[in-house]
Amino acid sequence: MSVLSNLMDYIKKEKKREEVPHGLCPNCWGRLEYGGEFYKAVLKENIDLNNVEQHKGWIQALATKYAYGLELKKKGTEWECELCNTKYEHE
Ligand SMILES: [Zn+2]
Repeated sequence: MSVLSNLMDYIKKEKKREEVPHGLCPNCWGRLEYGGEFYKAVLKENIDLNNVEQHKGWIQALATKYAYGLELKKKGTEWECELCNTKYEHE
């Protein structure tokens, strides 16, 4: 699963703001400059379940801006966020 498809799933499920797209750091996503800005941009563009596929390129750009830095990387038996250095247990 890529960051882009995880974000598209996130939009499709119309999840609540406090939830975190799969594979991203919950710590960083919880900060306003990431999850908050992403959420605001999606709302502003009126992207929802019905038009998310047509906006793929736009979401890709948004992902580059807000999400790729938060992608958890596998380090041994844990997942680590390279932005805040928080480690997470395997799910
Ligand atoms: Zn982080």
